[in-house]
Amino acid sequence: MSRTTDRLLLLDGRLTPSAGGGAFETIDPANEDVLGTAADGTPADMDRAIGAARRAFDETSWAADPAFRVRCLRQLREAMQRRSDELRELTIREVGAPRFLTFGGQLDTPVDDLGWFAGLAESYEWERDLGRAEPMGMPSHRWIRREPVGVVGAITPWNFPHQINLAKLGPALAAGNTVVLKPAPDTPWCAAVLGEIIAAETDIPPGVVNVVTSSDHGLGAQLVEDPRVDLVTFTGSTATGRTVMASAAATLKRVFLELGGKSAFIVLDDADLRAACSFAAFSGIAHAGQGCAITTRILVPRDRYDEAVEITAKSLAKLGAGDPGDDRTICGPVISARQRDRIEGYLRLAVEEGGSFACGGGRPAGRDKGFWIEPTLVTGLSNDARTAREEIFGPVLVIMPHDGDDDAVRIANDSPYGLSGAVHGGDLERARAVAARLRTGTVGVNGGVWYSADVPFGGYKQSGIGREMGVAGFEEYLETKAIAEGTT
Ligand code: NAD
Repeated sequence: MSRTTDRLLLLDGRLTPSAGGGAFETIDPANEDVLGTAADGTPADMDRAIGAARRAFDETSWAADPAFRVRCLRQLREAMQRRSDELRELTIREVGAPRFLTFGGQLDTPVDDLGWFAGLAESYEWERDLGRAEPMGMPSHRWIRREPVGVVGAITPWNFPHQINLAKLGPALAAGNTVVLKPAPDTPWCAAVLGEIIAAETDIPPGVVNVVTSSDHGLGAQLVEDPRVDLVTFTGSTATGRTVMASAAATLKRVFLELGGKSAFIVLDDADLRAACSFAAFSGIAHAGQGCAITTRILVPRDRYDEAVEITAKSLAKLGAGDPGDDRTICGPVISARQRDRIEGYLRLAVEEGGSFACGGGRPAGRDKGFWIEPTLVTGLSNDARTAREEIFGPVLVIMPHDGDDDAVRIANDSPYGLSGAVHGGDLERARAVAARLRTGTVGVNGGVWYSADVPFGGYKQSGIGREMGVAGFEEYLETKAIAEGTT
């Protein structure tokens, strides 16, 4: 029996079912309830979306009218804020995001940040006068113009859907591009509702934003390969990022990649061990560890290893895993059966590699429905173990000893990733010096939070290429043109 599609695609300004009429279910990961369906976009739908974005860029005044774009972005922010209660419940249910996070990075903060990108577009120096010079004896007046890149393909994961969708849409639109958004199949509604709001409550012209939900990852590949797309902004796993970069090479399009991580949390020997380890536990399992920048390797002074294990394990056990709708929950479910099974594979691997669990190590008691993993602390492994090197993307932390600042930096940097990190110490200058030596895109010192619209975020090494957010993130979506006028 076919079911009516609950949420539709946004193609060329219209909310529409998929070309084949298909739909796929979206599931509440806390209890496996079916929330409803999303349109199952096909290659024909993706083709239409790209065509619409191309026309909107080439044939309308969108790219040349920053004042109108600023107004549209502010409209979008206000419309999302008006619907924040509904969006909050949707996010808790579809993403399994703990309620407390929806007041920050899972909803309210990225919506508010649209205003920051609007303000940036308003004050940005789109054209700079370099003045006169006589290159090769030819008198010239030189100008630098910044222009939008064109059609942007935005491919996003499921873990922080509003944050990542909006951290791409905001700067891409502010810069004057048009966008095709392809969200992850696990969280289609967060993107589809954005399409609904854009269509119904903003003046964003047809084709400027297109949203193609689909159960088919192949539509992401199609977006990367299509020659009508000028830039791909991708957030997801390092493995997929590699494929995206290779496919983009055929049409030499720009790629901007935000990928995985296995970040270190360094506790120096002069730190308040109790405070640092409790913070490491809290920050390590927020949203069930499903954050790319989460610090999942805890490095503590060797002579206090046992004490650190005890404090961290007690904190994790106390936090536990709970219903995402509950105000007190820090760690909710993981997104899917597939992710739960993958994490359980790593728990088996940890034991095979000689590790033990100081707490957790399985599914929480009494959770027969939904996708759950207990907050887990793995001990007894070195940084060579796969469990300590590979991204698990669940509430699983590995705690390891270090022999002083140099050794802690060595272990932290001994990773193919370079996304984020944390340093805790009693002497701020010393903690800062350690932070400066980490080969990562962001570092928090003594609990400092770097996440903000004006702070560029991104990875060194295999954690990515380019920066999201901040002026640097905005400029990812711009081309640079030099103009020289001959003078006498
Ligand atoms: P994923 O790589 O499986 O999928 C991400 C997106 O890519 C999805 O929309 C998917 O449909 C699409 N996709 C899959 N195959 C594709 C292909 N061949 N070509 C183009 N698109 C394709 O990632 P995920 O499981 O959805 O998300 C978890 C991963 O995302 C983790 O590795 C995490 O670290 C990473 N992540 C990184 C950041 C960051 O900013 N650095 C933020 C959040 C998540």
